[in-house]
Amino acid sequence: MVVGRKIQIKGIVQGVGFRPFVYGLAEKYTITGWVRNSSAGVEIIANGQGSDISSFIKTVQSRPPLLSKIDSIKIEEIAPDNFSGFEILQSEALPGEFIPVSPDVSICDDCLRELFNPKDRRFRYPFINCTNCGPRFTIIKDIPYDRPLTTMAGFKMCEACREEYENPLDRRFHAQPVACEECGPQIWFEDHTGNHTFGEAGLQTARQWIKHGKIIAIKGLGGFHLACDALNEEAVEELRSRKKRSDKPFAVMVFDTSFAEKHCFMNPTERSLLESKEKPIVIFKRKSTSEIPASIAPGVNTLGIMLPYTPLHYLLMEPEPGYPEVLVMTSGNLREEPIAFTNSSAISELDIIADGFLLHDREIETRVDDSVITEVHNKSYFFRRSRGFAPDPVRLDLELRPLLAVGAELKNTFCLTRENYAFLSHHIGDLQNLETLQAFEEGIPHYESLFKIKPEAIACDLHPDYLSTQYAEKRSCKENLPLIRVQHHHAHLASVLADNDWVTDEPVICISFDGTGYGLDGVIWGGEFLYGGYAQFERKLHLENMPLPGGDSATHHPAKIAAAYLWKNGVEWADDIPSIQSFSSDQRSILLSQLEKDINCPRTSSLGRLFDAVASLTGLCHEVNYEAQAAIELENSINSEQEKAYHFEFDNQQIKIAPVLESIILDIQNSVTKSDIAAKFHNSVRLLVLEGCNKISQETGCRTIALSGGVWQNKFLVSNAIVDLEEVGYRVLVHHQVPANDGGLALGQALIANFQLNKK
Ligand code: ZN
Ligand code: ZN
Ligand code: FE
Repeated sequence: MVVGRKIQIKGIVQGVGFRPFVYGLAEKYTITGWVRNSSAGVEIIANGQGSDISSFIKTVQSRPPLLSKIDSIKIEEIAPDNFSGFEILQSEALPGEFIPVSPDVSICDDCLRELFNPKDRRFRYPFINCTNCGPRFTIIKDIPYDRPLTTMAGFKMCEACREEYENPLDRRFHAQPVACEECGPQIWFEDHTGNHTFGEAGLQTARQWIKHGKIIAIKGLGGFHLACDALNEEAVEELRSRKKRSDKPFAVMVFDTSFAEKHCFMNPTERSLLESKEKPIVIFKRKSTSEIPASIAPGVNTLGIMLPYTPLHYLLMEPEPGYPEVLVMTSGNLREEPIAFTNSSAISELDIIADGFLLHDREIETRVDDSVITEVHNKSYFFRRSRGFAPDPVRLDLELRPLLAVGAELKNTFCLTRENYAFLSHHIGDLQNLETLQAFEEGIPHYESLFKIKPEAIACDLHPDYLSTQYAEKRSCKENLPLIRVQHHHAHLASVLADNDWVTDEPVICISFDGTGYGLDGVIWGGEFLYGGYAQFERKLHLENMPLPGGDSATHHPAKIAAAYLWKNGVEWADDIPSIQSFSSDQRSILLSQLEKDINCPRTSSLGRLFDAVASLTGLCHEVNYEAQAAIELENSINSEQEKAYHFEFDNQQIKIAPVLESIILDIQNSVTKSDIAAKFHNSVRLLVLEGCNKISQETGCRTIALSGGVWQNKFLVSNAIVDLEEVGYRVLVHHQVPANDGGLALGQALIANFQLNKK
């Protein structure tokens, strides 16, 4: 008997080959009717024999196209109609409706084969793509996702491309960025004299220049990279000095996994992250046999590696005798400025760094940085969630109000919510930079229009000076929207809960170990044990407040922090302490009088700052030139055989650090190695975690522990804390979809605002 069904599918179902897939299935199961895209997803009308219909639906659900993600599927019985066949209909726009936009996807295996197949008409064409791969978010100006609303609008398809585009059985059916040598974007190489070399010749020039130690700016998917031969120490040093980036590790790119394995240890999870379609930078432990010079990543024993993700990268990385196997692929910017993403800005801003430019004429609509990831207990663990992941939402089993959360000031991301989606933005960066602030101010309306969200309230940090807070204040005033100010570490708590699809207001114990966050009492917090849920929290335990000479600027000078902490805890500034040695006698007396007179010494309970202090005490790092450098170097110097620990003491709600500092000084005087001190300090923090949780658990009965905040970027600490806590029966919630650092903060702010509004 012929039956009829109306099927509505939501999720990532457009631009991923969903309709051709449905079309193919309809043929297979002799289904008649139609399929079409709407602004709410994909709609299907299917008529057929009962058993065919159920097989058809089952296959749609169980084996959808690789890049699709079905969030919901609604099936209704309808009366069968008289269709002569199965058709793909025109898209229909429904007012106010939306669907998630696909992130950019790395080149697929089919396209890669064609790229290197001399018989293919797209042989060595740097912009080959299909419905299973290619640019998405970075070229989309608005939805529905159709070519005229992308930066491909200006390229008129040739006959051959159009045929593929219009053929439902073709891999390029409705692949919006479809193009070929004849009709699509082109590359060219440009040097400082303005010489242009187009196409393959331009590519070969770039390769020659790289081979000979030059630095080339390359336009990629979400912005520019600066590339050079990673095995050429001189080139790497030159790049460091021109980019004014003295220590922060450079990421590298290799042609395939086998090249990465030469230099790094790799477990199966790390391998699958490296090879995943998102192609993030994966942080690996480096092999001592690797010939990659130390200057790629000074002071650390890790390497950030990514695989090629665009056809142009493959052409650039293609192995050839004498050609470098490993290229530095660092963001195309000066220092911490946002990456360049237009040809003209690259030429003007990167001119002093790059010897030449490999450019193309497909515009980037949204600048998106590479994502950075590692694994913790076989799950992904983000340092930066951006290209390949954004703007895919965090999905919650919870109906969310339409809200905007503006995030933190550094590592900014913002978040917009509606239905059961939390659209956490791509990495925006440091808002103190004017151009980044602009990207923030333009990014928010872009997301609002893509996902059709009109916020009914705005959430921001409690910090009055954050530029994100100021944006929120202005906008809430202008649009008369409620403004919800969220304490920084409460937002971290909510972020890790949301990351784990925690949908009730049941309280947890959250250890928010962090760098900096504005506290309820105006003091800088960051060594916090909180107890609470989305709607409210209590501060149960915290590191005792220490003076931070010079305020925020002290974060650049761990030696100053160390000296201040010693002074505050009554430990003498002995000459054999490396931090003290790093000062001249004049500097010492200035610092001493600053501390004694309490001039510009705000207080902080930050654990991040204690890491800085300890890194300096051991002599590892007295000055930093990138964020968290001291803590990263301290973690990297751990002697993992060393199991001893120092001991923090509790004094009511305060965690006393004096015993730890005193033991460290004693160890320094007894010539205990840096690696042992680093290990003992990390172990003492592990003990603190356990003891703190036990204290709060005894009082509250709570057995669930959540870990969030920038200090949890420390892989040693997070991996061990999970084991320590689970061993004694706690349930542990850690991040795995969004970063533990401030890059995940906006998600927490949004959830808190949602719960607080619901309560009212
Ligand atoms: Zn493809
Ligand atoms: Zn073409
Ligand atoms: Fe934070």
